[in-house]
Amino acid sequence: MAAMRGLWVGTNNKKKLVELRRLLEPLGFDVRTPEQLGQPFEPVEDQPDFRGNARKKASLLATLAKAPALADDSGLCVDALGGRPGVLSARYGGPDLDDRGRVERLLSQLTNVRGPQRTAKFTCSLCLCGADGRVLVTVEESCQGTLLTEPSGDGGFGYDPIFVPIEFDGDPTKSFALLDAQTKDRLSHRGKALRKLITKLPAALGDSD
Ligand code: IMP
Repeated sequence: MAAMRGLWVGTNNKKKLVELRRLLEPLGFDVRTPEQLGQPFEPVEDQPDFRGNARKKASLLATLAKAPALADDSGLCVDALGGRPGVLSARYGGPDLDDRGRVERLLSQLTNVRGPQRTAKFTCSLCLCGADGRVLVTVEESCQGTLLTEPSGDGGFGYDPIFVPIEFDGDPTKSFALLDAQTKDRLSHRGKALRKLITKLPAALGDSD
């Protein structure tokens, strides 16, 4: 069996890490996390778009680890809210809210928004930086969907319990939180972005060694 290749992944979000790991490990990548650094990894996510924040996270981790690093910046953009929460998805409503609180806050802002207007998309930007912090690859993908009026299911994380992907060819009321991991990965912004990135990884990592 070919040896696993180490790849640093710049996220402190454990549930996001579960998804990135299950997509990268079957491809032979041994995911290394900021906890293994032995020093704090605290990127300031102050960029106006996903791409800029992904680049900041990947570049910081690569420089600290002195090795290539990948980072994901992602979020939910709701059409009726002009694209919010967007880059603020993880912090929507302030630091005291958990995933459930953020979902409730979002739903409370959409009480007057009816069925066909409840459209939204998840976006995932991935950035791979070389050991010197230089950007090697960036990709971005989205997943279109609609929002339920109340949470359904307890799988996944974040806004999964209210997001129904339009590409799902089964039950049109099934949220991401009710779909099995394989189906979410097939349809999700993160799954699509990673599959795109993976085609570019070997060449990019080979060049950076
Ligand atoms: P980030 O760590 O700044 O990229 O924040 C990402 C945030 O967007 C998460 O904390 C979730 O609130 C939301 N998010 C991103 N991807 C997903 C997903 O696949 N399902 C549900 N929520 C997501």
